[in-house]
Amino acid sequence: MSDIAVQCRNVDKFYGTAETRVQALHNATLEVNQGEMLMLVGPSGCGKTTLLSVIVGILNHDAGDVAVFGTDLDQLSTAQKTAFRGQNVGFAFQQFNLLPQLTAAENAALPLLIGGMPRRQAFAKAAALLDEMGMADRAHALPAQLSGGQQQRVAFARALIHDPRLIVCDEPTSALDGRTGDKVIALLRQIAVKPNRAVIVVTHDARIFRHADRIAEMEDGHITGIHRKADGTGPFAPHGGQYV
Ligand code: ADP
Ligand code: MG
Repeated sequence: MSDIAVQCRNVDKFYGTAETRVQALHNATLEVNQGEMLMLVGPSGCGKTTLLSVIVGILNHDAGDVAVFGTDLDQLSTAQKTAFRGQNVGFAFQQFNLLPQLTAAENAALPLLIGGMPRRQAFAKAAALLDEMGMADRAHALPAQLSGGQQQRVAFARALIHDPRLIVCDEPTSALDGRTGDKVIALLRQIAVKPNRAVIVVTHDARIFRHADRIAEMEDGHITGIHRKADGTGPFAPHGGQYV
C-alpha cells in the first residue's frame, strides 16, 4: 500500500477549441502524501482550480496520469467517478455554498442524508462534528445568523461528515479576515489531517501558509516548486512558517 494519496504526472488540460483554446495545465506533476496538508499557491489564472477539479474528477484531463489513492481516474466511467468522488472526497470553497433555509446541523448532515443515512443518525454525527468545531451552541442557527468564520466551519463540517480520504478546499479563507482565516485553518488542520487522509488547500492567503506541511508553487499551468516545512529560512519564511 502506497502512502501517496494523489499522484498527477505530466497532466495537460485545455479549455475551448481552435482559436479560443487555452492551455490551463501544462505538464503538471504533483504528489500529495497521506497524512499531510498541502497548500497549492500561485498567481490568479495559473491553473490551481483546474488542477483541483482534475484531481477530483470533475474535469477530464487531456494528457498525463491522475491517480487518487491508487485508482487511475482514466479507468473510471463518469458514473464511477461520481461514485468515487461521493465516497472519497470532501469539498469546501470560498463561497461557503450553504443552503440558506437549512440550519448549520442540517447543512453539515446533508451529504449523509443524500447518501441515505437515517435522519437521526445523520444529525447525531453532524452535531458531534459541529461540537468538535466549537459550534455546538450554533447547530440550530441558519447560515444568515452565523459569522463568516462560523459559516466556513459549517462548510468544513459538511466536507468532513462522510469521513472522506481526500479533502480539497479552494481559497477557503478569501472571504474571511486574516485572523478568522488563520483560526479556521488551524481548526481544519486539527480535525481533518489524519494519517490515512490528505488535505489540499488552494490559497493566496500568506497568513495561513504556516499550517501547511508542504507548499506547492504553481505558475503557468505547472508546479514550479515544492517547499517543505523546515527550521531554516525559506521563500515562505516572511509569512510565519519556514519552508525550504
Ligand atoms: P486559478 O484557480 O489559479 O486562478 P484556473 O484554474 O481557474 O486558475 O484557470 C486557469 C486558466 O484557465 C486561466 O487562464 C483561465 O482563464 C482558464 N479557464 C478556467 N476555466 C475556464 C473555462 N471554463 N473555460 C475557458 N478557460 C478557462
Ligand atoms: Mg481558482
